[in-house]
Amino acid sequence: YFITIEGPEGAGKTTAIEQMMNRLQELGVSVVLTREPGGIEIAEKIREVILDKNHLAMDGRTEALLYAAARRQHLVEKVVPALQQGKVVLCDRFIDSSLAYQGYARGLGIDEVLSINEFAIQDTWPDLTLLFDVAPETGLQRIAANSGREQNRLDMEKLPFHQKVYEGYQEVSRRYPERIVKIDAAKEPEEVVADAMAVIKKGMES
Ligand code: C5P
Ligand code: MG
Repeated sequence: YFITIEGPEGAGKTTAIEQMMNRLQELGVSVVLTREPGGIEIAEKIREVILDKNHLAMDGRTEALLYAAARRQHLVEKVVPALQQGKVVLCDRFIDSSLAYQGYARGLGIDEVLSINEFAIQDTWPDLTLLFDVAPETGLQRIAANSGREQNRLDMEKLPFHQKVYEGYQEVSRRYPERIVKIDAAKEPEEVVADAMAVIKKGMES
């Protein structure tokens, strides 16, 4: 069962996903927790190239292709084998990040970014995607308050970009209403995890 967690910056994905893993393990489920871009050596290296603060000249299509390349390698090397072993894979970001960030927010077009990503993932779509829904203003405030967080090239983007990412996710969630379930990520962290777990349990039972 393949679960992806999506949402803009400061939505609390990374913190919540660890607790979700713990809850699933308590239920006796075998879980692989991973993230994108990254999760394996080749993809972590591609992540460094994409997020490098010195790479301000990076072209949007180059960026989209690098994300897709990292996604492909991570999928074949880590996600697919785990799914074949019957594990639950919890992945922090996946294809919808590319559709929202590169496709919508960067203006490359959701359909164009979808086409390179269909090439990358073949038919391995998530069974369930949780979209952590939080207003861009709130997300940005949370990032600013979290001084321990590493700053990357994309964290330097300002509110209008984050606003577009938010809109991009809304658009993507309208395209895949069956797969994508919104979670109100403005709530307290424990509540967010509880809501997410309820959706996961329901999804895994059906
Ligand atoms: O969520 P995480 O902190 O791992 O994301 C790393 C950075 O990559 C974030 O700044 C996010 O906005 C950016 N990103 C992106 N396009 C994607 C995936 C992530 O711009 N497709
Ligand atoms: Mg994160």
